[in-house]
Order: sequence, then C-alpha cells, then structure tokens
Amino acid sequence: MDVISNYQNVAATVRRCAEAAGRDPEEVALMVVSKTWAAECILPIVNIGHSLFGENRIQEALEKVPALPENLHWHLIGHLQKNKARKALPLFHVIETVDSLRLAQQISRIAGELSLTQRIFLQINIGEEPQKAGFTVQALCEQLAEVLALPHLDVAGVMAIPPRGDTPEASRPHFRALRECRDDLQSLTGHALPELSMGMTSDFPIAIAEGATIVRVGSAIFGHRRQFVS
Ligand SMILES: *Cc1c(COP(=O)(O)O)cnc(C)c1O
Repeated sequence: MDVISNYQNVAATVRRCAEAAGRDPEEVALMVVSKTWAAECILPIVNIGHSLFGENRIQEALEKVPALPENLHWHLIGHLQKNKARKALPLFHVIETVDSLRLAQQISRIAGELSLTQRIFLQINIGEEPQKAGFTVQALCEQLAEVLALPHLDVAGVMAIPPRGDTPEASRPHFRALRECRDDLQSLTGHALPELSMGMTSDFPIAIAEGATIVRVGSAIFGHRRQFVS
C-alpha cells in the first residue's frame, strides 16, 4: 500500500471513530508524524491538502521545514533541550513537549526577544514512568499558575505518551486520566486547555473515544521508520 492510501485510510478511521463517539469529526485533527522521513516522502501528503505535521528533532526539522511549502503547521513532539529553544521557536507552531517550568520560562523569554507569542502544550507523564519526560500531575497542579503567568506563551492544551501496553485497550485508562487531569487543571485555574494531544498508530481510535483533539500518527502512514538521512 502506498503512503496516500495509508493516509486516506487513517483519516477515514479518525472520522469514523469521532462519529462513533458522538463527536464532531472536525474536532479531531490528524497529525502526520513525519520524523525520519525526508521532505520528498512527505510532499505527496502535502499535495493532497494535508497541513499538520509532527517532528521530534530540531536538527531534522531545520532541514525539512524550509524544504516544504510555507503554509504547513509543524508541531514539536520530541523533548526540547533549553539550549535549542532559540532554533525551535521559529520552526514550530506548537511546542507540545513543554515538560518543566524552567523550559516554559526559557521559551517565554526567547519568544519575547523574537516578539512572538509561542503556542505550547504541557507534556504530562501520565503513567508516572521514571524514564519519561513530562510534568507529574501533582507538579503541574502546583506550577501551572506560574506557567500561565509567563507573558509570551499561549498555553493551549496537554499531551502525553502513555506507557507501552500489550493491547490498544491498555492505553484507555491513561487517556482518561489525561482528560480528567486537563479538566481539573481548567477548573483549578479558570484557564481553558482545549487541546488534548494523545494517541498514536497503535491506539489512536481509543484516544478519540476518550476525547483526543489531536492524534499523532506516523508508522500507519509511512511504514516502519528508518534513520533520517538528509
Ligand atoms: C513517533 C511518535 C509518534 C508516532 O508514532 P507511531 O506509532 O509511528 O504512530 C507519536 N507521538 C510521539 C510523541 C512520537 O514520538
């Protein structure tokens, strides 16, 4: 199967899952995760009108983003080191992986210097896995007010990568926990966090049933990843 029919199948599944959950399909965005795939592999999907893409490495995005049309929306979905923030901000419409107060402060400071407002999501370590990045739910409850007070950020939602499970269903309690955490943070602060970025190739239908507004899908569209070669 080629990339275009894979894409069309995934997009149709996204719509079908939204309808099955009683949701408006327009509420659920499909992000095509293009990490490791060169610009010429991505272009066919751009050419049929898709515009939302996810990348996880700054160096790779620095080569790829300028090689593709300007009207695309890129989200950063990999860990951002503080010393790479200056390069990342001009590339990404949304930095989904803000995982500490220190990083949020750094992004706000640089956004101020560049005279822009950076849209971000807060990454939550929903499975409380020691090796994984992200705020714990408790840390975020304590620190969100401070993040929201930063002047050059638009804090628009949350994202998580749940623990790897044996079945897609294993992700459901984590997706539900992320949505409930988001709801709690909204009532705690009165600040709307409309975006819920969760679900990948293996479990995006479950994520949609649990309220995802963005699902991040790579290998179901491109096949298995290999090393990025520029
Ligand atoms: C790679 C990646 C994805 C896509 O994973 P697939 O299983 O290939 O769909 C989604 N989210 C994040 C954060 C990723 O790093």
